[in-house]
Amino acid sequence: MRDLLILGAGPAGMAAATEAARLGLSATLLDEAEGPGGQIYRAITTGGASRAPLLGADYMHGATLAKDLMASPVEQIFTATVWDIAKSAEGVTLTYSRNGQAAQITGKTLLLVTGAIERPVPIPGWTLPGVMTAGAGQILLKASGILPERAVLAGSGPLLYLLAVQMARAGMPPLALVETQSTRDILRAAPLLLPGLRGWRTLLKGLGLLAELRRHGVRRITAATDLAVLGTDHATALRFRAQGRVQEIACATVMLHQGVVPNTQATRALRLDHQWLPRQRAFAPVCDASGATSAPGIYVAGDGSGIAGAKAAADAGRLAALTIAASLGHLTEAARRAQSRAPAARLSAERALRAFLDTAYPVPEAVLRPADGTTVCRCEEITAGQIRNWGRKGAMGPNQLKAFGRPGMGPCQGRSCALTLTELLAETHGSSPAEIGLGRIRPPLKPVTLGELASLHEGDTPL
Ligand SMILES: Cc1cc2nc3c(=O)[nH]c(=O)nc-3n(C[C@H](O)[C@H](O)[C@H](O)COP(=O)(O)OP(=O)(O)OC[C@H]3O[C@@H](n4cnc5c(N)ncnc54)[C@H](O)[C@@H]3O)c2cc1C
Repeated sequence: MRDLLILGAGPAGMAAATEAARLGLSATLLDEAEGPGGQIYRAITTGGASRAPLLGADYMHGATLAKDLMASPVEQIFTATVWDIAKSAEGVTLTYSRNGQAAQITGKTLLLVTGAIERPVPIPGWTLPGVMTAGAGQILLKASGILPERAVLAGSGPLLYLLAVQMARAGMPPLALVETQSTRDILRAAPLLLPGLRGWRTLLKGLGLLAELRRHGVRRITAATDLAVLGTDHATALRFRAQGRVQEIACATVMLHQGVVPNTQATRALRLDHQWLPRQRAFAPVCDASGATSAPGIYVAGDGSGIAGAKAAADAGRLAALTIAASLGHLTEAARRAQSRAPAARLSAERALRAFLDTAYPVPEAVLRPADGTTVCRCEEITAGQIRNWGRKGAMGPNQLKAFGRPGMGPCQGRSCALTLTELLAETHGSSPAEIGLGRIRPPLKPVTLGELASLHEGDTPL
């Protein structure tokens, strides 16, 4: 049995795996992607690096992490989609599918570094072909060098600036950047700037992106409200209200974004304790500074434990690896403390600006709690009005909602609606999202075929 299983090969997983190997642990790293990198450094070893001039210096930082990982003795299993996680007295078993076959792997400890997902942006028309998230647009660019033509970026958050700059560098700038963020939001966040100044590098990067956007002549519209995508069988325009009037921008693609939230699918499947983060309006697993969760032997790090960015993710991964090594007797407590000092200091500096960023880029109420006619569960085609109605009829939480109409039970397993369901029920019952909670996650975490299930019986792999 391996000492450590690591699920996720983003910056947190790569740094943790390399550190664990340095400390003498036998570790296996799994990811459904084709190679290491995670979201930010996606395709860093499989072609993304050739697009370095577009993607920027931050992206290339991932090459160093990937190189260190490749040089380590860590076992790496890519294109492996983990769909079940079981904890026992001996350790943890991951079940995953790869090339149409399922397999199991066991470890004494587990580090979950499954990163973030983009917050759903349920606005009228968001289910039309031609609408995608900004992150999805960026995945196309990183993985395949593809960018949509005649695109409008809409929503809020620094990722929109980054993508707009990357598009402009590629010679295909967006038609416009329509932001829901307003000057009032910045003023509200201003008192948090001073305490956050240890994160000045992030701030400078953001200002640099805005300056580059101006140089490229990208049109920016701020304080936009009432966003809606127009079209019958394809997006044809984005409509919004700004500067006191309703405006429309004709386009072929709309890329929506309202920040990212921790991906809690795996931590919820394991029934770890979670907490509501009021400023980020999201849930995250409860963990200590080293990532230890409410279940012994299970650790979390990176954006999956709270959004803090790629550099913070890598240091959180290193801290978790040090603690796991100490727990397995590979490191004395004194050595763990000494070696944790530098990554812990960097992590704290990286996190310093978060309060400012979260306050400066708030999610509009209309996105958190959309109007009745808006689809919220895309898989089962359920509207916000239906959720409110079922709430009034007695559904007190997302688990009861499932009996009324299956919201959150489609192929995405609630990834694109869970937070909206919670917000809508909180509104209906006059309570807080913390009280409503999230729905229970059951295996499989990701869709699995009968053939993959059956393959577990083949050979000598026990089910
Ligand atoms: C779409 C998107 C784009 C982003 N782009 C940027 C950017 O350009 N710049 C920036 O600064 N920040 C970006 N971010 C934020 C950035 O993701 C994080 O700050 C950073 O990548 C977090 O690192 P991490 O190691 O915690 O997780 P991630 O980098 O997200 O890595 C998590 C890994 O876990 C794997 N995984 C999850 N579940 C499973 C499963 N069940 N089976 C197998 N593998 C699994 C995923 O494939 C992924 O590779 C982006 C976020 C998103 C969601």
